[in-house]
Amino acid sequence: MAGGKAGAVIGAHATARPPGPLRAGLAELGRLVVPVRCAGCDEPDVALCPACRREFAAPRRVEHDAPRLDRMDGRILPVWACAAYDGPVRDVVVGWKDRGRADLSPFLEGVAHRAGRAVGSALAHALGVGGPVLVVPVPSSAATVRARGSDLVRTLAGAVTGGLGRRGLEPVLAPLLRQGGRVRDQVGLASRARAVNRAGAVQVRQAAAGPVLLVDDVVTTGATLAAAQAALERAGALVLGGLVLAATPAPGAP
Ligand SMILES: [Zn+2]
Repeated sequence: MAGGKAGAVIGAHATARPPGPLRAGLAELGRLVVPVRCAGCDEPDVALCPACRREFAAPRRVEHDAPRLDRMDGRILPVWACAAYDGPVRDVVVGWKDRGRADLSPFLEGVAHRAGRAVGSALAHALGVGGPVLVVPVPSSAATVRARGSDLVRTLAGAVTGGLGRRGLEPVLAPLLRQGGRVRDQVGLASRARAVNRAGAVQVRQAAAGPVLLVDDVVTTGATLAAAQAALERAGALVLGGLVLAATPAPGAP
């Protein structure tokens, strides 16, 4: 059985792939036809240059830059971001998400993994004890996932989960949310609640109890994270914080 399967794979390769020298020639031709350029600054012949890589650093707290994150009860969700969503970082993230630069995935997953390690220390400290932490990706619409060919935020959340297991934490990737559902009637809601409501076509597809770390690609106003937090807390979860690749800088920030 195993031998037959291996034989089929080898056979497929032998017929589908050109011989080595020709393959190298085709790759070279490919570079000439579609030259690779840095996704952040357009430097030629590199997928992501060292300067643009350095824009993604250790995660720092950004929740006070997200106006829609503050809550009626005065609590504010801690949010960590690895970069400012501006300049080359914006081009890298948009290139990865919407311009077919899947070649950036290994780098960005590495950023998310290291961020998970850093945030894991903070979460372990906040919880006081170890134990399970659900890592919940903020959901993309089905149409977005189809257009991108994969669920990139879920990919990030998987990388965060891989980095989070420290100091007794037991991280579990838990895609508990989905986009969709009816947006409540806006009449009678304050402006902050309206923003949460608009972003809030987020539903819990599965009951959730226990501590949660939310993961998203970018935080701008925080309305989406706030909606995800509200949905999870209604379902019984305790949302400890959010971790994103990049955060829109506050107006007037350097
Ligand atoms: Zn660059």
